Amino acid sequence: MDSLFHFIFPLMAALAARIHMKHGVIGVLLMALSAVLIDVDHLIGLPGAMFHNLFFTLAVPFTILSIMYTWGRETERQAAMCLLLFLFSHTVLDLFSGGTVALFYPITGQQYAINFNVTWGGYQIISSSGIGLLIFFSILLVCFFLQDIDRYMVKY
Ligand SMILES: [Zn+2]
Repeated sequence: MDSLFHFIFPLMAALAARIHMKHGVIGVLLMALSAVLIDVDHLIGLPGAMFHNLFFTLAVPFTILSIMYTWGRETERQAAMCLLLFLFSHTVLDLFSGGTVALFYPITGQQYAINFNVTWGGYQIISSSGIGLLIFFSILLVCFFLQDIDRYMVKY
């Protein structure tokens, strides 16, 4: 998926979830920009592995989230949760939308892709891009319940 989509869609989700009311428009723009920064891999000619992997898009943001849940305030916790959602959703969408992703880099540089089409009578019913978009949307849907999730996480 192209970089513009990786910027616009999380931005739309964040604005629709009214995250800008708490974090400001600049904060939301920076969060959406973080999702695009993963594509630096392509821009500077890296093999699509440096940032497009589970370590950078899941383990690092989850560590930041854990730190924020230990020492951070509500705003920082929710920003860290957005960072996790936006970065992870980028990798998931790329995995399903025709690109290859080195999921387990730096352990292995093996590239993975999920491509399939379900057709019926010559008409395409479901494609891997559609499923990727559904997963992407589901991840970003969490933005709508950010405050509720944060309150629940703090309580337990
Ligand atoms: Zn990408």
